Amino acid sequence: MTHRILIVEDEPSIAELIAINLTHAGYEVEKALQTEVALNLMRDQLPSLLILDWMLPGKSGVQFAKELRSNDRTRALPILMLTAKSEELDKVLGLDSGADDYVTKPFSPKELVARVNALLRRQTPIDDAGPLSVGPLKLDPSSHRVTAVWPNMDPQSVALGPTEYRLLQYLMANPERVHSRANLLDKVWGSEVYIEERTVDVHIKRLRAALVPTDCDRYIETVRGSGYRITKMPTQT
Ligand code: CA
Repeated sequence: MTHRILIVEDEPSIAELIAINLTHAGYEVEKALQTEVALNLMRDQLPSLLILDWMLPGKSGVQFAKELRSNDRTRALPILMLTAKSEELDKVLGLDSGADDYVTKPFSPKELVARVNALLRRQTPIDDAGPLSVGPLKLDPSSHRVTAVWPNMDPQSVALGPTEYRLLQYLMANPERVHSRANLLDKVWGSEVYIEERTVDVHIKRLRAALVPTDCDRYIETVRGSGYRITKMPTQT
């Protein structure tokens, strides 16, 4: 299957540079100069991945990413954010908006393609472990659904972005063990792309935030100085 990638970038020369390189790498590419056009292009069929510029006229890339994440249909769409800002805080804010990865301008087209490849590879399941269960949390890889099941209550569905889903899947497949940030990067993100370890903290924060409505956030524990784990017996109640 050929992956279709949608580029939302208001600078035509940059959009073209990305398009050429992705086409060379075997992808189908569509371009939109602004978010309204992008929404039109996504109406009938969602792309495999969205490359989204941070600074756009009208609605910003950050705002657009937030909207996509809050919509059931587009929640799991992988988003690679382009930013001209290199400050650490801005990167983290970019991830906070719901982006799965970011690339700082000016970027090397080769690195951008590598990031796209890696992000798409992350969409393939970690393994065929089958349904997973830790405490009230259930994860079903066949339907890509996460639910919280509390006694005497209807199952509540947990809405996760693609990276948070994969992170939770890995933790649930390996419960009670402490995973270092480096290990999580390797297993969840893949080792072929350099990503800062702080990225893990950002996605753990997002995962917990998504688990708060079902009261399951405390099942993800921080082990000071070591990393993170999921446990069926959280110490915090
Ligand atoms: Ca721009």
